[in-house]
Amino acid sequence: MTGPSVFTRILEGSIPGDIVAETERVFAISDINPQAPVHVLVIPKTEQYRDVAELAAGDPELLAEMVALARRVADERADGEFRLIFNTGAGAGQTVFHVHAHVLAGDLEEKSLVG
Ligand code: AMP
Repeated sequence: MTGPSVFTRILEGSIPGDIVAETERVFAISDINPQAPVHVLVIPKTEQYRDVAELAAGDPELLAEMVALARRVADERADGEFRLIFNTGAGAGQTVFHVHAHVLAGDLEEKSLVG
Protein backbone atom coordinates (compact mmCIF):
# COMPACT_ATOMS: atom_id res chain seq x y z
CA MET A 1 0.00 0.00 0.00
CA THR A 2 1.24 3.50 -0.72
CA GLY A 3 0.56 6.63 1.30
CA PRO A 4 0.16 6.92 5.04
CA SER A 5 -0.54 3.78 7.06
CA VAL A 6 -3.97 3.18 8.54
CA PHE A 7 -2.55 4.19 11.93
CA THR A 8 -1.14 7.48 10.63
CA ARG A 9 -4.51 8.23 9.03
CA ILE A 10 -6.22 7.68 12.40
CA LEU A 11 -3.66 9.93 14.12
CA GLU A 12 -4.23 12.66 11.53
CA GLY A 13 -8.01 12.29 11.81
CA SER A 14 -8.57 11.41 8.16
CA ILE A 15 -10.25 8.12 9.16
CA PRO A 16 -12.08 7.40 12.43
CA GLY A 17 -10.32 5.74 15.33
CA ASP A 18 -10.42 5.66 19.10
CA ILE A 19 -7.22 7.27 20.42
CA VAL A 20 -7.03 6.26 24.09
CA ALA A 21 -3.63 7.67 25.11
CA GLU A 22 -0.88 9.79 23.65
CA THR A 23 2.59 11.14 24.40
CA GLU A 24 4.83 13.35 22.32
CA ARG A 25 6.11 10.44 20.18
CA VAL A 26 3.67 7.57 20.78
CA PHE A 27 -0.10 7.03 20.65
CA ALA A 28 -2.51 4.23 21.50
CA ILE A 29 -5.78 3.20 19.82
CA SER A 30 -8.44 0.58 20.49
CA ASP A 31 -8.02 -2.38 18.13
CA ILE A 32 -10.98 -2.60 15.75
CA ASN A 33 -11.11 -6.39 16.21
CA PRO A 34 -10.41 -6.96 19.92
CA GLN A 35 -9.00 -10.32 21.02
CA ALA A 36 -9.13 -9.62 24.76
CA PRO A 37 -11.16 -7.47 27.19
CA VAL A 38 -8.52 -4.77 26.69
CA HIS A 39 -6.89 -4.78 23.26
CA VAL A 40 -5.03 -1.59 22.49
CA LEU A 41 -2.37 -0.90 19.87
CA VAL A 42 0.60 1.24 20.90
CA ILE A 43 2.20 2.95 17.92
CA PRO A 44 5.03 5.41 17.32
CA LYS A 45 3.86 8.57 15.58
CA THR A 46 6.59 8.08 13.00
CA GLU A 47 6.02 5.28 10.49
CA GLN A 48 9.74 5.13 9.73
CA TYR A 49 10.06 1.66 11.31
CA ARG A 50 8.21 -1.29 9.79
CA ASP A 51 8.59 -3.69 12.70
CA VAL A 52 10.00 -4.04 16.20
CA ALA A 53 13.36 -5.37 15.01
CA GLU A 54 13.93 -2.27 12.87
CA LEU A 55 12.76 -0.06 15.72
CA ALA A 56 15.01 -1.70 18.31
CA ALA A 57 18.01 -1.24 16.02
CA GLY A 58 17.14 2.32 15.02
CA ASP A 59 15.64 3.95 18.12
CA PRO A 60 15.63 1.77 21.26
CA GLU A 61 14.47 4.72 23.35
CA LEU A 62 11.32 5.00 21.27
CA LEU A 63 10.71 1.28 21.84
CA ALA A 64 11.04 1.90 25.59
CA GLU A 65 8.51 4.73 25.28
CA MET A 66 6.08 2.31 23.65
CA VAL A 67 6.48 -0.12 26.54
CA ALA A 68 5.91 2.70 29.04
CA LEU A 69 2.68 3.70 27.30
CA ALA A 70 1.57 0.05 27.20
CA ARG A 71 2.10 -0.07 30.95
CA ARG A 72 0.06 3.09 31.45
CA VAL A 73 -2.81 1.74 29.34
CA ALA A 74 -2.82 -1.53 31.31
CA ASP A 75 -2.80 0.42 34.58
CA GLU A 76 -5.67 2.63 33.47
CA ARG A 77 -7.85 0.04 31.73
CA ALA A 78 -7.05 -3.20 33.61
CA ASP A 79 -5.12 -4.34 36.67
CA GLY A 80 -1.70 -3.28 35.39
CA GLU A 81 -0.77 -6.72 34.04
CA PHE A 82 -0.59 -7.20 30.30
CA ARG A 83 0.71 -9.18 27.36
CA LEU A 84 2.71 -7.30 24.72
CA ILE A 85 2.81 -8.75 21.21
CA PHE A 86 4.73 -7.55 18.17
CA ASN A 87 3.84 -9.56 15.09
CA THR A 88 6.98 -9.31 12.98
CA GLY A 89 6.68 -10.27 9.32
CA ALA A 90 3.72 -11.37 7.23
CA GLY A 91 4.39 -15.02 8.06
CA ALA A 92 3.98 -14.18 11.75
CA GLY A 93 0.66 -12.43 11.16
CA GLN A 94 1.79 -8.84 10.66
CA THR A 95 -0.62 -7.01 8.37
CA VAL A 96 0.24 -3.35 9.02
CA PHE A 97 3.89 -2.47 8.38
CA HIS A 98 4.04 0.52 10.69
CA VAL A 99 5.43 -0.94 13.90
CA HIS A 100 2.83 -1.42 16.63
CA ALA A 101 2.50 -3.37 19.87
CA HIS A 102 -0.66 -5.22 20.78
CA VAL A 103 -1.44 -4.67 24.47
CA LEU A 104 -3.73 -7.43 25.72
CA ALA A 105 -5.09 -7.17 29.24
CA GLY A 106 -8.06 -8.12 31.35
CA ASP A 107 -9.05 -11.76 31.68
CA LEU A 108 -6.49 -13.57 29.48
CA GLU A 109 -6.96 -17.02 31.02
CA GLU A 110 -8.38 -18.58 27.86
CA LYS A 111 -5.86 -16.94 25.58
CA SER A 112 -2.51 -18.17 26.89
CA LEU A 113 -0.16 -18.68 23.95
CA VAL A 114 2.58 -20.60 25.74
CA GLY A 115 3.11 -22.27 29.07
P1 AMP B 1 -0.98 -6.91 12.88
O1 AMP B 1 -1.76 -8.04 12.26
O2 AMP B 1 -0.07 -7.31 14.01
O3 AMP B 1 -0.26 -6.10 11.81
O4 AMP B 1 -2.05 -5.96 13.57
C1 AMP B 1 -2.84 -5.05 12.89
C2 AMP B 1 -3.99 -4.76 13.79
O5 AMP B 1 -4.59 -3.55 13.36
C3 AMP B 1 -5.09 -5.82 13.79
O6 AMP B 1 -5.27 -6.33 15.10
C4 AMP B 1 -6.32 -5.05 13.29
O7 AMP B 1 -7.51 -5.46 13.94
C5 AMP B 1 -5.96 -3.62 13.62
N1 AMP B 1 -6.61 -2.63 12.79
C6 AMP B 1 -6.66 -2.59 11.43
N2 AMP B 1 -7.35 -1.51 11.01
C7 AMP B 1 -7.71 -0.84 12.14
C8 AMP B 1 -8.45 0.36 12.38
N3 AMP B 1 -8.94 1.11 11.38
N4 AMP B 1 -8.64 0.74 13.67
C9 AMP B 1 -8.17 0.00 14.69
N5 AMP B 1 -7.45 -1.13 14.52
C10 AMP B 1 -7.24 -1.56 13.27
